Amino acid sequence: MRYISTRGGDYRYSSAEAIRAGIAPNGGLFVPESIPRLTSQDIQDLMEMDYPRRAATVLSRYLTDFSFDELLEYTNLAYGEDKFDAFPAKVTQLNPYNKTAFMLELWHGPTSAFKDMALQLLPYLMTAAARKLGEDKEICILTATSGDTGKAALEGFKDVPNTRVIVFYPHNGVSKIQYLQMATQTGDNCHVIAVKGSFDDTQSGVKTIFNDEAFCEQLEANHQVLSSANSINWGRLVPQIAYYVSTYADLLKGEFIEPGEAFNIVVPTGNFGNILAAWYALQMGVPIGKLVCASNRNKILSDFLRSGTYDRNRPFFMTNSPSMDILISSNLERLLFELTDHDAAQVATWMEALQNEGVYDIDDQTRKRIQTMFVGGFCDERGTIHTISDVYETFDHVVDTHTAVGFNVYQRYAKRSQDHRVVVFVSTASPFKFAGEVAKGIFEGDVDDSLDEQALMELLAEESDMLIPAGLNCLVERPILHDTVIEKEEMKETIEAILDVNS
Ligand SMILES: *Cc1c(COP(=O)(O)O)cnc(C)c1O
Repeated sequence: MRYISTRGGDYRYSSAEAIRAGIAPNGGLFVPESIPRLTSQDIQDLMEMDYPRRAATVLSRYLTDFSFDELLEYTNLAYGEDKFDAFPAKVTQLNPYNKTAFMLELWHGPTSAFKDMALQLLPYLMTAAARKLGEDKEICILTATSGDTGKAALEGFKDVPNTRVIVFYPHNGVSKIQYLQMATQTGDNCHVIAVKGSFDDTQSGVKTIFNDEAFCEQLEANHQVLSSANSINWGRLVPQIAYYVSTYADLLKGEFIEPGEAFNIVVPTGNFGNILAAWYALQMGVPIGKLVCASNRNKILSDFLRSGTYDRNRPFFMTNSPSMDILISSNLERLLFELTDHDAAQVATWMEALQNEGVYDIDDQTRKRIQTMFVGGFCDERGTIHTISDVYETFDHVVDTHTAVGFNVYQRYAKRSQDHRVVVFVSTASPFKFAGEVAKGIFEGDVDDSLDEQALMELLAEESDMLIPAGLNCLVERPILHDTVIEKEEMKETIEAILDVNS
């Protein structure tokens, strides 16, 4: 399997090269030249496997310069019981509510968000890729985060030899718990920086640095090389495809659907990585009906899916689902490339327009193709809280704010469309991670404002009978190890100082 860039050029990268590089030299994203298909026998076989073996099987179709045994070793380590709640049963959890609604919980890893599914594995893939390429430079992972990626990247790469992680997050733009998780991060190779700006500012800052050839040459002389842990990296996406394939196997195994019977998937969406992984699963042969793309008040994707115009010239809101407070959904570029039948010139034009004018318009044919598979929708903060309360009453289950956005959007979609297919709600974070906002829904506003994050989590634990995840418990008591705040123009010099480039 070879990888090509969404913006064209003569690149034919191996999977190891694509993972190591993160982004194509022309600013495009790597995609596989073709998408592998699963036969019904393959699916049958998957049904009998545990999660790490299923994941290795899916990975092996894309990462063809890794052997199956190698991949299995990595998935067993990444999803091991010291990392995930109860190995192997709870790596992912598909919780049935009734005959047609399921919740896919992807947050049983060390940082309590679905990002662990990919970021526990990525360090193994990345360091193995470097070994395969005969490279011994220090790998410097630059990460822009809206809250969850940063912590998951830090936990994944913490103390991994010959790597370093630098995380930029929007100052005052993440939840209190997300802040504490990152600010208390241990590990000598971990660096955490607050940037006065939005997530999009940090993401474009990081992209600019990746494209800064002179800087990359300087690093090379310093025996260092940059890579990305954001979902622009193919190594982030491919582990996510695995859990959608695995979910299909689980639905079949539980006899909740017939072979080939279509089911819908609802994904709370920000950077478009998670939902794009579901689209790849669909292309591989998983019978997904509708991919429901749920947004918060930053509803740029919802507008785009309806109109075909992607317009980031709009106000930016900080909401109670901060991991979706994004106006530039990077992975949409991959979908556009696929649904224009690999028209790289067209994609490059749109991305240039986005960069220069903040807006692009796709053609009607591509829009219609997208609309046959994707449905968009959004809800505001009040709707989110209301839905948390609603889901608690109906299902006796506590969901986080991001997951609630998905429920809210789907309820209206199902009513409107009379689509009664089986539906899988992707649950992207533990409710404890957003305890303050979740408590507002569960206790219907009846929460003492003076309670700190620990007290709020304890309140939730008592009400829900769920345990506070180990990684979140007693966070307020841990020492703050990272307190740097910079202007958005200072990202490059901050990296230079950390990596000691000019010495
Ligand atoms: C990252 C994140 C999202 C958005 O996922 P994308 O892949 O960026 O679309 C949604 N919910 C939570 C909790 C997240 O951490």
